[in-house]
Amino acid sequence: MQDQQQTQEPPQMPSVLQNSVVVFSRNYLPLARVNIRRAVTLLVNGQAESLDFSSSKVWQVRSPNLILYVPEHIRLTMGNPERIWKVPPVNRRELLRRDNHVCQYCGSAKNLTIDHIIPRSKGGLHTWDNVVTACETCNNKKSDRLLFETGMVLKTKPKAPMHPAIAFAEQFWREQEQ
Ligand SMILES: [Zn+2]
Repeated sequence: MQDQQQTQEPPQMPSVLQNSVVVFSRNYLPLARVNIRRAVTLLVNGQAESLDFSSSKVWQVRSPNLILYVPEHIRLTMGNPERIWKVPPVNRRELLRRDNHVCQYCGSAKNLTIDHIIPRSKGGLHTWDNVVTACETCNNKKSDRLLFETGMVLKTKPKAPMHPAIAFAEQFWREQEQ
């Protein structure tokens, strides 16, 4: 019975499901891009509503007993996801991502380690503003000295990683301007 219904689905189904939808927060901050299935779940559960910009595309998604119109922009009706996010604790994965997987002294992408700018032996903390990605060579060269004693220069001023929604929002608005 169910098999029969599935064979009646219109042929455009697979391509419709390949599209993605931008989710906005209640405060109209673009948060993330999700696939259509996820968007349908949010819409059907009442956790999101359609958000129509004049330029929005709308896709028709059919199931055996439902036709749903899914716009390319939806807005969450509940929750406040941007408040939930906290600065993650310092860890290698997040640190490498923040530093684009390159040594912050020489730009090398090989043999990456974590360097404490003020060495831990001199009271430096394991915090986002005191850690950078460094290749093994630079880390050994710096050893447990302070930066000014080494003549080495950081490419960027280290800080906590950006809220993923804010990073997404910046990229989203940049794309709209193009
Ligand atoms: Zn290096």
